[in-house]
Amino acid sequence: MSGEILVVVEHDRGVALDTSYQAFGLARTLLAAGVGSSITAVVIGADGDSLADEVGAHGAALALRVHHSELSDYAPEAWGDVVAELIVSRSPVAVVATGTDRGNEVLAHTSAIADLPFAANVIAVSAGDGLSLTRVRWGGSLLEQAHLDAAVFVLSAATHSFSAEPSGGGDAAIEVIEPALAATASRTRIVDRVTLAAGVTLTTAAVVVSGGRGVGSADGFAPLIELADLLSGAVGCSRVVTNNGWRPHSDQVGQTGKRIAPELYIACGISGAIQHWVGMMASKHVLAINTDNEANMVGKAEYAVIGDLHQILPAVSEEIRRRRATA
Ligand SMILES: Cc1cc2nc3c(=O)[nH]c(=O)nc-3n(C[C@H](O)[C@H](O)[C@H](O)COP(=O)(O)OP(=O)(O)OC[C@H]3O[C@@H](n4cnc5c(N)ncnc54)[C@H](O)[C@@H]3O)c2cc1C
Repeated sequence: MSGEILVVVEHDRGVALDTSYQAFGLARTLLAAGVGSSITAVVIGADGDSLADEVGAHGAALALRVHHSELSDYAPEAWGDVVAELIVSRSPVAVVATGTDRGNEVLAHTSAIADLPFAANVIAVSAGDGLSLTRVRWGGSLLEQAHLDAAVFVLSAATHSFSAEPSGGGDAAIEVIEPALAATASRTRIVDRVTLAAGVTLTTAAVVVSGGRGVGSADGFAPLIELADLLSGAVGCSRVVTNNGWRPHSDQVGQTGKRIAPELYIACGISGAIQHWVGMMASKHVLAINTDNEANMVGKAEYAVIGDLHQILPAVSEEIRRRRATA
């Protein structure tokens, strides 16, 4: 299957997220599977122009800078409309984005406008008669094997499932395009922002240090915060913790909290109830720190340390600092 793979580059007023370039990892996987013959990056809005200079390193041969007065800030329907127009004008073989809230929102609009099926949160893909996909469903509580047959494959990459590292390509050619957006396209757009948390977020962090009832109190989270900072990660927690008011609900992982898929999930004093497990089961690696060697989390985790988290975590942080100082 030859043709372009369009990669929608997620950015916020010109700043790419850590996850943004994971979509290129999926695009390169498609190329390796014989789907498509080149990658074209789509950078929507003039404030993202500088990102077009970076995408060559991720395998894009061409970067499209999409300019329009209505594209001054993130507007999901307008972004979806832009990509749907590109599907008509360029006839790509596939369109991909990273499966963040925004990536999935944009591709949902795109596929609705273009009347195409959309497979979200893909973790593995192979080509044959159409595409065979594995994707994360129900917020990480199950993996689905799916077959996709479509005129254009619209896919998002589950976060942390494909490499965001540069692949060694050269500069991409740059083209500026001006779409003919429908008057209603930017009726939903960002008009104001309230900062809830600075830096790495729970849903995008590669490392999450998470605490449960075993942490014991709000102050007990200090060693978890320290380790998360050392690892450039984020702090998560169980529902018992939010019920007790030790951490905000925005930190809760699970069925009634966030569904996350970090590279490493460190579960400290968390028993591993199913309602918690469904929120973090898509993690690549799980380390349990628990006093009970029969806790569910210990049985399911790839690694476990049996003991008091209040002794183990400071020792781990101390060892990281010691090794960094001598490196
Ligand atoms: C409808 C519904 C939705 C729910 N949604 C969620 C959700 O989204 N997220 C969620 O987390 N839960 C959710 N729950 C609650 C869930 O069922 C569990 O009650 C909860 O996850 C347990 O939290 P925990 O593991 O922190 O506490 P516990 O189950 O009490 O486990 C505490 C653990 O800490 C260990 N421990 C104690 N002291 C130490 C120490 N010093 N060092 C190391 N380990 C120690 C213990 O051995 C134990 O394993 C939901 C429940 C329902 C019914």
